[in-house]
Formats: sequence, structure tokens, C-alpha cells
Amino acid sequence: MANIGFPQEIEIAKKKGADGVGLFRTEFLFLNREHPPSEEEQFLIYKKVLEAFYPDMVIIRLLDIGGDKQIPYIEMPREENPFLGVRGIRFLLKHKDILITQLRALLRASRYGNLGILIPMVTKPEEVISVKKIIEKVREEIEEKSNFKIGIMVEVPAVIFSIEEFVPYIDFVSIGTNDLTQYMFAADRNNIEVSEYYDDESNVILTTIKLVADKLSKTSIPIAVCGELAGKPHMVEPLLKIGVKEFSVTPSKIPKIKKQIYNVISSKAYSKT
Ligand code: PEP
Ligand code: MG
Repeated sequence: MANIGFPQEIEIAKKKGADGVGLFRTEFLFLNREHPPSEEEQFLIYKKVLEAFYPDMVIIRLLDIGGDKQIPYIEMPREENPFLGVRGIRFLLKHKDILITQLRALLRASRYGNLGILIPMVTKPEEVISVKKIIEKVREEIEEKSNFKIGIMVEVPAVIFSIEEFVPYIDFVSIGTNDLTQYMFAADRNNIEVSEYYDDESNVILTTIKLVADKLSKTSIPIAVCGELAGKPHMVEPLLKIGVKEFSVTPSKIPKIKKQIYNVISSKAYSKT
């Protein structure tokens, strides 16, 4: 599947053979402008990407703002440690107007394809419960009956050790190895001074992903990786072996990763595991 951040990438993702979109980052819609995007503007973009990939799944992530990304038209308190502060779903639950507008646009678009709504920077099941309550309210308001799935980004280490508590509330998980690595090693992903500590290929990361895969193996919840790790050909085999079912990567990497997946799963050594 493809990671995309702009609607203009739909075409290249299709050309490279994407089987759907595993991560549609929606930050582009909100950055570099003076007002938040309207419900209608968002709806048209979500509809476009859902139609383009139908019947494949399109996973659209709720706005993941905060951390190093700020939006000028929303006043946010200065934080000493923004990556440990009001990011992702923490921000959205404090700015419900933005969350509700995005959910209204997503739910309206859901009838045009197979939608997955992905919640970023989740820490506790209560956050998912809150989002689902708001979704139900929105659904009633706009009288939308189409089906869609709800999933979480696994990026915060606490989620690894409590994933079973999320099971009743989610349909899929996507491991964000970029943030997971920065939080596991306490190394800012953008700070070159600590890059020697930031190792997404480490056994530490594979072990944490395996823990999630093992805990979910008795459920029907599929486990995807959408961080940079998924786009490294030599990591395909270890990820498949620990139970990763979906890979979502930048469009240019799709052919190589697909080929590697087919190579690994058709090898004799793999079929014995
Ligand atoms: C991640 O954290 O791995 C991820 C895919 O999200 P982003 O890079 O947008 O934070
Ligand atoms: Mg992330």
C-alpha cells in the first residue's frame, strides 16, 4: 500500500502498483494557509482518493499536528517538550471543532470507497472511546450509514504493553516506526546530534512489533507497518516472520517492496516458519 500526503500522489501511487493507501497524511490540508480547510474542501479530497482506489482500502489519518508541526491560525501554548505534549489525538480532543469538521468530511466521503480512519499518537483506550462517541454523534447528525473501519497508530510505547485493552474498539493497527523509534530510544527523530541512538532496524523495535503481533494473533485485527522501516527491502523478511500483514510505503518504493514480499513468501525457508 502507499503512503501519500497530497492528492497529486494518487496517480504515481497507482502507477507504482499500490494495493490501496495505508497512510494518507492529512496535515498538508491544514498547513501553509490562514484558515482551516472547510468540510466541503476536505470531503472532495477524501472522496477523490477513495474513488481512485476503490475497492482497495484507503486509510486516512486524522490530523497529526503538534510536535514539530504547528498551524499558524490556531493558538497553541508553547511547550517545553512538544513531542511529549499536545500532539495528534491529544490536540484534536482539545480542538473538537477541527476534529468534528474532519470527521463529518470523512463520514460523508465513506460511501465512495473502503475507508479506514486512523487515529494518530494514541496513548490510552479512552481516547479511542472519545473519538468513537463523537463519530456516532456525527453519523446521526449527517444520517450517514456507510461502513468504515477505525484503527490506531502504534507509536507510543505504552500502547505496546496495553494493546489488548484496545481490541474491543479497533479494526486495525498501523505501526508508526518513525515515532515508535524516537519514543523507544528517547531520541528526537529530527535531531542529527542523537541520530546514533535512533535505530529503527534494531531488535528492540522488532521485539516490540512482535509483542503487538503476538497479542493480536488471536483476533482478526491485521497489523500493518507504515513507518520508514516498511520501505527497507532487507527488513521485509524479519517483519513478515514476526507477523506483519501489510506494508505501507512511499510510492517509489512499492515495486521493490512488493517484489521482496513475493520473494520471501514463496521461499521454502519461509513456508516452513
Ligand atoms: C510514523 O511515526 O512512523 C509515521 C508513519 O507517522 P509520521 O511519520 O507522519 O509521524
Ligand atoms: Mg508518527
